[in-house]
Amino acid sequence: MLPKASSSNLLINSFLPPSPTLRKIAHLPNKLPHTTTQHGSRFICLSKKLSIDTQKEETVIVGGGIAGLSTAVALHRLGIRSLVLEQSESLRTGGTSLTLFKNGWSVLDALGVGNELRTQFLEIQGLNRTQTLPQRFIQDDNHQQHRLSIKTHEGKDLRSFDFKDVDPSQEVRAVERRILLQTLANQLHPDSLQFLSKLAKIEQDDATGETRLELTNGAQLSAQIVIGCDGIRSPIAKWMGFPEAKYAGHCAFRGLAYYPNGQPHEPRVSYIYGRGVRAGLVPVSPNKVYWFICYNSSNPGPKITDPSVLKRQALDMVKNWPSNLVSTIEQTPDDTISRTPLEDRWLWPAVTPPVSKGRVVLAGDAWHPMTPNLGQGGCCALEDAIVLAKKLGQAMKSRQGSTEDALRSYGQERWPRVFPLTIRANLVGALLQWENPVVCSLRNELVIPKLVQIRPLLEHTNFACEPL
Ligand SMILES: Cc1cc2nc3c(=O)[nH]c(=O)nc-3n(C[C@H](O)[C@H](O)[C@H](O)COP(=O)(O)OP(=O)(O)OC[C@H]3O[C@@H](n4cnc5c(N)ncnc54)[C@H](O)[C@@H]3O)c2cc1C
Repeated sequence: MLPKASSSNLLINSFLPPSPTLRKIAHLPNKLPHTTTQHGSRFICLSKKLSIDTQKEETVIVGGGIAGLSTAVALHRLGIRSLVLEQSESLRTGGTSLTLFKNGWSVLDALGVGNELRTQFLEIQGLNRTQTLPQRFIQDDNHQQHRLSIKTHEGKDLRSFDFKDVDPSQEVRAVERRILLQTLANQLHPDSLQFLSKLAKIEQDDATGETRLELTNGAQLSAQIVIGCDGIRSPIAKWMGFPEAKYAGHCAFRGLAYYPNGQPHEPRVSYIYGRGVRAGLVPVSPNKVYWFICYNSSNPGPKITDPSVLKRQALDMVKNWPSNLVSTIEQTPDDTISRTPLEDRWLWPAVTPPVSKGRVVLAGDAWHPMTPNLGQGGCCALEDAIVLAKKLGQAMKSRQGSTEDALRSYGQERWPRVFPLTIRANLVGALLQWENPVVCSLRNELVIPKLVQIRPLLEHTNFACEPL
């Protein structure tokens, strides 16, 4: 049993910023009343310790990332209120961007935010794959000329294609994570987002079916339905018996280059393959370009928090690579650079627990963390949100079938989608991270240019998203 709460707080929501931009409300049960203003994300928070009751909620979502916010918006559009608990003091403001394919965009349309986001991010027309070239091709003074020759040099341009040629309905854009989260949060009533609310304990009452949640600040909540959107280290997944995510054997540096006077890249993704190291450049907006470097490492290595060290390491890793990659990294503000070990969890049938336990359910990375090799983790979190909200909406509104049945049905519908995709993403990563020179040469000369069929490679972006 969780100990009885000695105090909790009531949010005073009387002072909100005038524009529909992000309004951030902090929840600080054990602190004195206070006001905080942060100009960057334009928020004001005001909270006050007032009462001693356990907060009763119908639906609580733990985690204010892509899965949590999109699920809250989907429920909201169906007329169902939820409370999102986020451990941080604000929405994730740092970080880089993520590439969303047409499945992600169809969900964002259903959530009513697709067009607002489209106006801010470039549509990516196609993809160029190159391999790292010998020094003589890239260390010439005339970078521009030789950058062109990298793409056209015989045997060096591995594959290029336009997304619309492969699939006219395809839509690919990289969105800044910060803006995606803010846009979703703007759809919600401000008091449905509670910051500084880190889940510490979860417990189910078998008699009532309710779930009790205790936060690290001592606040207690009781909820009819709990949706765990608390990411790859999800405490809720752990409580449900899921194993830890597994390290896939490679790490990724990521950064978001900023060009105040406009970025020089055409709207195409460029992948550059080396041996055990590969990099990518993805234009995001007229001023920003996302880049990543994925490299093999037997272990994730020590956590480095100083981004200038990460930048130096990233530059060292690709110092003899095409100059447009190196200059893009150099053009990157330190605070957008991060390094992440890539991990996933395979949802083996009959071995891994089901997605729900009573009226507690998982979505997004909390359930199916996958490596980013197909750019589908965030897209699938969005898909989860729509399917879960619909199932819950039907059960809660029409009272047809139990909530537990609805959650099970969500799991049955989503498992055949996310399990194979997790495996596929892992295998694609293993193929692209090959180190052996002979195998790499085979990959570069035969597999990628001649054997790989592009259309089947993008088939996983098909997702029938019905309007909410
Ligand atoms: C290198 C890399 C590149 C990627 N590129 C792409 C891409 O191009 N396209 C794509 O679709 N996907 C991509 N992904 C995957 C994508 O980032 C994730 O799938 C997505 O962020 C999952 O969203 P989520 O909301 O489930 O989890 P998260 O984004 O991790 O959000 C979880 C939230 O829960 C909160 N939380 C955690 N614990 C608690 C707690 N105890 N109490 C309260 N709150 C808590 C966290 O603070 C966080 O806000 C990439 C991933 C990586 C690592």
